[in-house]
Amino acid sequence: ADRTRVKQILINLLSNAVKYNKVGGAVVVDCTASTAERVRISVKDTGEGLTPDQLTQLFQPFNRLGKETGSEEGTGIGLMVSKRLVELMDGEIGVESTVGVGSVFWIDLNVTGGPQHAAVATGPTAFDQTQVQEGTHLRTLLYVEDNPANLMLVEDLIARRPDIRLLSAMDGNSGVEVARASLPDVILMDINLPGISGIQALKILRADPATAHIPVVALSANAIHRDIEKGLEAGFFRYLTKPIKVNEFMDALDEALNFAYTESDRAKKGEKA
Ligand code: MN
Repeated sequence: ADRTRVKQILINLLSNAVKYNKVGGAVVVDCTASTAERVRISVKDTGEGLTPDQLTQLFQPFNRLGKETGSEEGTGIGLMVSKRLVELMDGEIGVESTVGVGSVFWIDLNVTGGPQHAAVATGPTAFDQTQVQEGTHLRTLLYVEDNPANLMLVEDLIARRPDIRLLSAMDGNSGVEVARASLPDVILMDINLPGISGIQALKILRADPATAHIPVVALSANAIHRDIEKGLEAGFFRYLTKPIKVNEFMDALDEALNFAYTESDRAKKGEKA
């Protein structure tokens, strides 16, 4: 399974289990082998439970069970998105519920021996990028971003590019970790991140000989001139501001990829950059 997606799905199930619970209630997370080939992660709450009628509506678009208000922006994805993500990973999501006792939401995922691409069912999604023709030179882009909405938008944009594989990290420290482990061709970096900022993460990457050469494009809501200047001084390859403008984004990405390609070419020929 995809680590980021599983995390988003679990955050969705866990926040629901808390939100629809009773005062002094409990949430129990369990992980079992549902069959020899499948792992089941379940999230059990002690809330009011759901009627058969509510159960049938549960995974419908915009269903909010009457308790969620629109004000909790950025808290995560809905059940319908969770269902779609689980199914894109060839898994299954379900629920068992008893009125007055509580609900158990579960996801089943395939057991794998090692890293494996998700099977693609339908639709143009980020997972389509795994269907790359043999011989295509696959580039890796790492996106460090804590806002799931921005992450999903970039996933949609990158889904149009079968030559790019997208990795993601949700804070600066894990961004640095993923960069060191996967040595992406280009990094896209949010500035306001939990823990260390995008600028601090850039400095760490610059100081490490293994990652110093990777072009890092800033993508930030800080749009004032001084922030942009400061960002470029810190060593960002480009500094883009949110909201993301698709053409500008794609152009900057291509420039950074070309730069990365030229750099690796130089390195192969033993020239100095
Ligand atoms: Mn942010």
